Parts: sequence; C-alpha cells; structure tokens
Amino acid sequence: MLYAALAWNEFNKGSRPLVEGTQYIVNEDAPSHKVGEPSSLLKSDIARHYIFFGRKRRKLLNMDILIFHEAFPSLMMVKILGGASEVGSFAVQVQEGDIRLLVDNGLTPSKPPKYPLKPPQIDLAFLSHAHIDHSGMIPWLSMKYGTDVIATEPTITVGSILLEDTVKVSASEGYPVPYEKRDVKAMRRHFQMSTFDDHIEIGGVEIDLHPAGHIPGATMFNIKGEKDVLVTADINTQDTRLVYKAEPQKCDVLVMESTYSGRNHPPREETEKEFKDKIHEVIDRGGVAIVPAFAVGRSQEIMMILADSGFDVWLDGMGKAVAREFLPLEKYLNSQSDLRSAMNKTNMIRHRDDRKLALKAEVIITTSGMLDGGPVHEYLRHLKDDKNSAVLLTGFQVENTNGRQLVETGTIQLNGQETKIECEVGFFDFSAHADHDELIKFAKACNPEKVVLAHGDEREALRDDLKDFEVILPTEGDEIEC
Ligand SMILES: [Zn+2]
Repeated sequence: MLYAALAWNEFNKGSRPLVEGTQYIVNEDAPSHKVGEPSSLLKSDIARHYIFFGRKRRKLLNMDILIFHEAFPSLMMVKILGGASEVGSFAVQVQEGDIRLLVDNGLTPSKPPKYPLKPPQIDLAFLSHAHIDHSGMIPWLSMKYGTDVIATEPTITVGSILLEDTVKVSASEGYPVPYEKRDVKAMRRHFQMSTFDDHIEIGGVEIDLHPAGHIPGATMFNIKGEKDVLVTADINTQDTRLVYKAEPQKCDVLVMESTYSGRNHPPREETEKEFKDKIHEVIDRGGVAIVPAFAVGRSQEIMMILADSGFDVWLDGMGKAVAREFLPLEKYLNSQSDLRSAMNKTNMIRHRDDRKLALKAEVIITTSGMLDGGPVHEYLRHLKDDKNSAVLLTGFQVENTNGRQLVETGTIQLNGQETKIECEVGFFDFSAHADHDELIKFAKACNPEKVVLAHGDEREALRDDLKDFEVILPTEGDEIEC
C-alpha cells in the first residue's frame, strides 16, 4: 500500500488528521494494491471526502486514489438564521468543519424591527447586496466579532448610505437598531472589496462570486467545500435597464430565494408600455403622476424607463445619491451611458423650493417606495385631494405599510392622521426578483442534489414544481446537512 502511505502523509500535512477506519483504495493502474472494487465506488465518494484536502483535491484525483468509508458523516452544514419562511432579515450560516461563514445579516425595517438569530463567532462574512433586509445587522456583526465582510464596491458604498439612514430613521421611530452611526463608519474598515469572478479561500474552503442581477453589485456566493453550495440571496434572471442578469451555476446544494414563489411577472415591455400610457393619461387630464420608488435600484430603473418619454420628470429622495454612487461603477451596470443619459434628462430636486416646481411638472419619482416616509408625504399633502393626479406604485406593497393601506382602503397615515387620498392609485410590477417560472428554470439549470428554499412566505408552490429534486423548506435555526 505504498500509494496509500504516501497519500496519508501528504494529506495530513496542513489539514486535520484523517478519521480512523478510513480505507484507501487504489485504482486499476495499481491492481496489486486494490482493497476494493473501484467500479463499485460512486463519484460522489470523492466529493464526500475532499474536505480533508481542500485545495489539494486536484492532486488527490491526479494520484488516482480514492478514499472510501461508507459511514462517514457529512461535515458541511447550512443553517438559515433569518428570512427562511419570510421575505426579510435574511442570514445564512454555512459551516464546514471548524470554518464558519455567513452570507448576509439583515433586518426587517418594521416597527419594531425584526432580526435574524444571532450568529456565533464567524470566520468570514459575505454581503450579497445593499438592501437592509440583507445588510441591516452587518454593523452589529463587525462590532461584536470584528468579522471581515466580503462585498462588491456598489454594495459597500450604497449599503453604508442605507445603514446610516436606518440608524437615523429607526431612532426617530422609537425602535433604535442595536448599533450607532459611528459603528456603521467603523464597519467600513472590515469590508474587503471584491468583484465578480473573484476567488477567495479560507481554511481549504473556496468561494466564487457571481452576478445576481437584482441591483448593481448584487452577488451570489458559490461556497466550495465538501460540497458546492450556491447561495443566491436576491436574484433576477432577466436583464433590466439598470443591471444585467444572473446566470445559473452548477452546484450540489442550492440555497435559493423564493420571494415570487407561485407568482409570475407580466412581460417587462408590456408593463413599461402600460406605465407610460397611464402617465400620458394623467398628464392629459391635468394631473401629476407621483411614482413612489425604492431608493436603491427602483428609482434609477424608473428614471431610465422614462428617459426617452419626453415627460417632465423630477427625482427626489435618496435615489439621487444612490444614482451618483452607481454611475462610475460601469462593470456593475447594464449600460453606464443609458444611466448617465437618464440622469441628464431628469430634473433633480436640490432644494426644498424645487418641490414647488416639481408639483407643477408631470412626473415625480420619489421615496419611500411604500409611502412610509420620505418626500412622497410632502407631495401627497399637496395633491391628496386632486382626482386628476395619480399615485403609481412600482413594487409589491408589504403588509402593515402605508402603501398596502392605500391599495386596500384608499387612505394613508399622514402626520399621524388617517388621510383619504383622492388620487387614482395604480400598480406596476417592476420587480427586481426572478418570478416563479424563472426560479424553476434557474434551479433546474443549476442541477443540484438539494434545493433549500428561503426568503419566501409561500415556498410550497416552488417545492411542488421542483419534484425532480430533494427540496427542503427550513425554518429559522434548522441545520441542513449537505
Ligand atoms: Zn434585495
């Protein structure tokens, strides 16, 4: 068993000792050393054991030696700490042996905010994108454990703006988050800026970064240990005007978002046409179209959709600062020149007085997307009784938000008062998430052994359409062996 002895020493160097009872089996090239039939071994046995060798896997395969032990337990584990059965406060722990990784650590900005389970000490964290339901507890993580965080440039710059705003807004609402503005500033020292196609290694675990669509800089993480685990976080598999799409990646375990489980989007061109037609109608009857939009992604997308419409468009709220941050980051944009041109054609609100001009114009894109604060309140105070004007919502309105209340009752909470809104209310699905059919197609192309569905409140519809795979619907805290 010369090969085996050599291999043993080689593999023990710089990695943990092999488990007692492990057998070595040498392949056809060395029949005299054979202690088992290689043909009876499954390919997956190689994958099951390369945890011990990490980056040495290739070497192992070159040596034509297989290690075989039937009762060997898997050492790779996935645990959804938050945002398993709901859209919000997303956090996923991926562990291989002693190496603990964390993808995202979000919070749900409700009143009071909702948090994921507290992670243990983490060796390295990854942030998929800037949205608060993925990033909201990253400052706490770096403050508590000093953990470094891998993220792309747009995620770091725009995430920092959103987190500082979260500190301010949550304090003013009486539900402060468990960190302060100075912690957000300190967090920036823990970021390690990465880019797509980067390859990161820690303790023999390799991590690849891939574009996730969704918003500029949004990333999927492919964590390669004993198994290949792909964590999508939020994905869009269709190009939008702002950002290009996510491509499927082959993996063993797919941890996939399920926001649109059971629901499909209408074709984007149709939605864009209906949206512009509606604005025409509002302008023709003498009204103003108020377009509430999220600051990150949606405000810029809407601005780009309307760039060539000829409408007199104004942009208000944090979406302006976010657009300025995105603009120089060409490799994260579908078209830098289209974004620049849209920004040039849109009037930016620079002073409060500019709002008087916007109220006399045709279209106002403004935060917040669900009418829970921001400049949209000021516009509604002026236009709430104007039946000719319209509020054109551009995204799904979550329960217990002003936006949902407007859709259901025609009223919103304005200055603490339930206020009737006489404007027409419209809804246009400009979602930045893959829909049901797109998620199914994506999962099939990744062709995993297991699909772990998270980040969705109606995951069953996806499970029912993924019958060819082992599908797991964990609740927060469940440990899933890979
Ligand atoms: Zn998101």
